[in-house]
Amino acid sequence: MKVVSDIYIIGGGLAGWRAAEAAVSGGASVTLVANGVGNSPDIHALNCPVLPEDSVQQFIDDTLSSGKYQNDPALVEAMCQESVHLKEEFDFDDTIIRPLGSTVPRCVSIKHAIGAIALGDIKRRLKDKVVVENRTMTVEELLEIRAKFPDMKIIIATGGWCGKYDFSTNPSYLKGDGLAMAEALGGALMDVDMAHVQYEPTVRVEGPRRGIPVITTLLYEGARLLNMEGKEFLGDARLNKDELSKAIFDQGGYAFYDLTDVPDEKILECRMDLSERMIKVAPAPHSSLGGIVIDSRCHVLASDGSIVPGLFACGEVTGGIHGLNRLGGNGGTVAMVFGTIAGREAALEVKN
Ligand SMILES: Cc1cc2nc3c(=O)[nH]c(=O)nc-3n(C[C@H](O)[C@H](O)[C@H](O)COP(=O)(O)OP(=O)(O)OC[C@H]3O[C@@H](n4cnc5c(N)ncnc54)[C@H](O)[C@@H]3O)c2cc1C
Repeated sequence: MKVVSDIYIIGGGLAGWRAAEAAVSGGASVTLVANGVGNSPDIHALNCPVLPEDSVQQFIDDTLSSGKYQNDPALVEAMCQESVHLKEEFDFDDTIIRPLGSTVPRCVSIKHAIGAIALGDIKRRLKDKVVVENRTMTVEELLEIRAKFPDMKIIIATGGWCGKYDFSTNPSYLKGDGLAMAEALGGALMDVDMAHVQYEPTVRVEGPRRGIPVITTLLYEGARLLNMEGKEFLGDARLNKDELSKAIFDQGGYAFYDLTDVPDEKILECRMDLSERMIKVAPAPHSSLGGIVIDSRCHVLASDGSIVPGLFACGEVTGGIHGLNRLGGNGGTVAMVFGTIAGREAALEVKN
């Protein structure tokens, strides 16, 4: 065990790397351990209120209403407030997508690949400034590290747990390891159950791309969903992801995503092959909505609401932000915003 840094980050997705960047800017030394890239390179677009008809308040309202008002309002407010700084950081493309469940277009990107681009940029900027260990961290090892280096700050950013299901959009190494880590160090968990698993409604069930979703915003671009008898079953209804998954389950669990009437450029924009026009899809576990209990500065909280000293968490491993349903585009925003907060706050504690 050769940990010598001020801050130890577990997780190499956007949340972990954003935390690393903020921590390094705050003057702290950082070790980051990760056993994969996580879901972050798959982020096409994320939410940031950029249009004049949008506002932080509208973003808050959409997030709360999407989560059926079961979200932690303080975390939602922190995310929406901080998200406006993303437009100062990134030169977003002009195309702004309206995610399902949102009242206005708010999903921004760069070349439909904001996750991969942002991650690549951070890793380039931090080259040689962070110690990276490519391996799996276990609870036992983390407990040992904590015992040996009690003053070191730990940031858990291990992503969600949907990889533990057989049919899922996540890689199988995303099993929620960070939840057990937080608990072992005294942190509390919330909403860690099937009611807080968000299904992606339209996931390929066949062929080499099994498990890869077909983006739902194409439903705004002329795509239709057909049941197994070839009948359209949505009509004009524009449902959020949760409702859409239920609608497909009500049709027997499968649907055909008919892209015949979607303009070629819209299909290409989604990084899809033009030959894919009729795709068999089913809902699959996609995002976990519950997780480690944190406050809006990413401190991990114990079950009595007190702060667990020196322990932070950020990204999909945390709970409370999405309530019962995640507004499309908020996964990326959470990782970006709370990653930065966690790194900044941990570095401040190192300084003090
Ligand atoms: C196919 C797909 C498309 C998506 N598209 C979008 C989108 O367009 N917009 C959007 O907002 N959201 C999207 N999401 C959701 C979004 O990707 C996630 O919410 C976000 O990436 C979570 O970031 P994170 O850094 O918290 O976790 P991740 O990016 O998943 O990273 C977790 C990290 O933890 C590491 N790790 C886990 N356990 C251990 C361990 N025991 N030891 C060491 N390392 C460990 C992993 O290797 C990984 O590096 C999508 C999700 C999927 C699956």
